[in-house]
Amino acid sequence: MQRYSLRINGQACAPQGGAWFASQNPYTGETWAEIPRGDARDVDAAVQAAHAALTTGPWAELTATQRGALLRTLGDLIARDAAKLAATEVRDNGKLFAEMSAQLNYLPQWFYYYGGLADKVQGSTLPLDKKGYFAFTRNEPVGVVAAITPWNSPLLLLAWKIAPALAAGCTVVVKPSEFTSASTLELAELFEEAGFPPGVFNVVTGFGQEVGTPLVEHPLVSKISFTGSDATGRLINEQAARLLKHTAMELGGKSPNIVFADADLDQAVFGAISGIFAATGQTCIAGSRLLVQDSIHDAFVEKLLAVARSARMGDPMHPDTQVGPITTEPQYRKVLDYIAIARSEGATAVLGGAKGEAPGCGKGWFVQPTIFTGVRNDMRIAQEEVFGPVLSVIRFQDEADALRIANGVRFGLAAAVWTGDIARALRMSERLQAGTVWINTYRAVSFMAPFGGYKDSGLGRENGSDAIREYLQTKTVWINSGAVTGNPFVLR
Ligand code: NAD
Repeated sequence: MQRYSLRINGQACAPQGGAWFASQNPYTGETWAEIPRGDARDVDAAVQAAHAALTTGPWAELTATQRGALLRTLGDLIARDAAKLAATEVRDNGKLFAEMSAQLNYLPQWFYYYGGLADKVQGSTLPLDKKGYFAFTRNEPVGVVAAITPWNSPLLLLAWKIAPALAAGCTVVVKPSEFTSASTLELAELFEEAGFPPGVFNVVTGFGQEVGTPLVEHPLVSKISFTGSDATGRLINEQAARLLKHTAMELGGKSPNIVFADADLDQAVFGAISGIFAATGQTCIAGSRLLVQDSIHDAFVEKLLAVARSARMGDPMHPDTQVGPITTEPQYRKVLDYIAIARSEGATAVLGGAKGEAPGCGKGWFVQPTIFTGVRNDMRIAQEEVFGPVLSVIRFQDEADALRIANGVRFGLAAAVWTGDIARALRMSERLQAGTVWINTYRAVSFMAPFGGYKDSGLGRENGSDAIREYLQTKTVWINSGAVTGNPFVLR
């Protein structure tokens, strides 16, 4: 059994309450690690350390070029330890080693990209309407950032926040998900090795109300960057609004994967599978609504079933496994509940529809890859985020019908269109209400490509060069270069 420590001010430390909680391996159902149960005292220590590093420590003295160099060194260390960090994530969240090692091998790119960007953010000299003044802008770090992350891709989603935040000169306190804290604590050890001054990167593990709430409400935290469910995001945004803090919210989705009759149907089948069964459907960008044009509906579902039926469930560490367990026991029960709801609403399970009990599944929390046909867009299974391997197939007639159904949910994170007609692809990409639209592909992301939600899927954007601005604030400096002070009671 491995016992982890908090990371505060560059030190491994025990939680002040002296308590730890168990982290389970979703494949075996067994406890494999003990995670520190932080509380408001640990949050305060971490935020004080982050604030000191921001304002007085050596971090505050570094040039942007030096910060960039540290980020690139960190990227090298992550590349060195990618296999180890990926194995920790598999043990903690049950996703495939193939998926997590691909994520970890890709992760250094965020630190190289934002490391390179750190010293390329420029202010401006302002053209003014007033004579006798010179004015310019400076971009300054927004302050201490609280990064709150979910369990599905812990380090990838954390990198999307901390790489631009550190490049901007902010300092960070992370609260990872209580279900998957281990990899973030292991990552924290690399910061000192890379040469980051103490207090720049801190981790307090624990539960939402015990760690998350005091972190959001701490007066020295300036920005909350959150990824998770829309219910928690809404609550945090309300608390932050009361305290006038900056926020960025990456929330849930119910993304449409839209297949027109003129598409390459074999490619579209792979797109549909990758949209819902990759990562066992536990991804915010899951293509959980498959919209299929009426004229090809039955043939397409047959093709899809032929591939989906052979998806192999089993040990996520095994290279042949394609569908791993559900990460947490409550989530496992939630997915099975949604399957029951879909049946009660009149949808037909043409594949799966039960817990997974194949020989390779051990005692893990497996749900069979499940496909429902006969789904209407007003059913709960079509409107609510399941976050599991459950696909709803919905028929449509034409482009207008596809758009009405696709946009007819409160979420707007992503959407995909499968078509051979470039004009249709462009029309659809304009009209789909989603932060990302894929044409003839699915689940492509990059450190260079802005990512975020329309509607209830979030506020703000991660990735891409603009993301660094989410962690900066603008200061305008006015210099009197000859203006004469007139009436002091009148605006200059
Ligand atoms: P969650 O909202 O339950 O938890 C997310 C984080 O918030 C966890 O660290 C949790 O401990 C913390 N938290 C819970 N209550 C809190 C509170 N009152 N104050 C502060 N923090 C609190 O989400 P989850 O179940 O871990 O993750 C799954 C969700 O995340 C899904 O809805 C998924 O769509 C979403 N997600 C979104 C993106 C994206 O980029 N848009 C990416 C991945 C996951």
